[in-house]
Amino acid sequence: MSECIFCKIINREIPSEIVYENNEVLAFKDINPVSPVHVIVIPKKHICCANMIENEDVELIGKIFIAIKEVANKLGIAEDGYRIINNCGENAGQTVKHIHFHLIGGTNLGEKLI
Ligand code: AMP
Ligand code: ZN
Repeated sequence: MSECIFCKIINREIPSEIVYENNEVLAFKDINPVSPVHVIVIPKKHICCANMIENEDVELIGKIFIAIKEVANKLGIAEDGYRIINNCGENAGQTVKHIHFHLIGGTNLGEKLI
């Protein structure tokens, strides 16, 4: 049994609204959405943050971006556009220590941070 809440979601130990799944990647709706579409996309492999990505993970990280594109298509935001965000570590406010990419869209996201 994992202590990580995203591993628990992968293992169906806690419920989530899954929107996409394959052997290596899972995507589910964020419980506290900041936009009409807010999906969390994760590798099933537990990697705690961007700092811990290894060479052996290169293909997996690429597959996450393929999944993001497919989710965006499926949820109808691909054409209008969206933002992908990864928070790494304390200064970025990372709260869940299982690497994840926020896919947000469904509205004009307004001012950019960068
Ligand atoms: P971060 O601040 O980048 O670590 O983002 C973590 C995200 O996970 C936040 O947007 C939370 O709302 C989301 N989150 C936390 N627990 C759950 C959950 N059980 N199901 C779905 N999303 C969650
Ligand atoms: Zn995990």
